[in-house]
Amino acid sequence: MTTDDKSAGIHFHTPYPDVAVAANEFAAGTDSEDMVCHCGNSAGANGFSAADRNGRLADITAGPPTGELAELPDDPFSICNSCGRVIDSDSTAQGFRILGRVDVLSAEWIAARDEYQTTNFDS
Ligand SMILES: [Zn+2]
Repeated sequence: MTTDDKSAGIHFHTPYPDVAVAANEFAAGTDSEDMVCHCGNSAGANGFSAADRNGRLADITAGPPTGELAELPDDPFSICNSCGRVIDSDSTAQGFRILGRVDVLSAEWIAARDEYQTTNFDS
């Protein structure tokens, strides 16, 4: 690894397989409604999934979380449904900090997203 490689890596580990992300990436926007991921995805396009502050997908329905889903915190992270970037909920002057990135092609992530969708929207 050269010195230049220090700008990219895995900075934040989710419960799912992770891939490297650059150290100083931001999602644009000022709130969850107008957030635009580094990859260009937005809430009106492929959308984002809510996660707890460990990066685990959350059960956003009322009551205790079910299955492998986490309890929804007051200040959830967003995970881009397109590229898997984990996005901090606190907006800064530069936008929302990208904390890490889930491997969206991993079986673990695909299964978790299925459970998230079924629990939160299909039942
Ligand atoms: Zn994205």
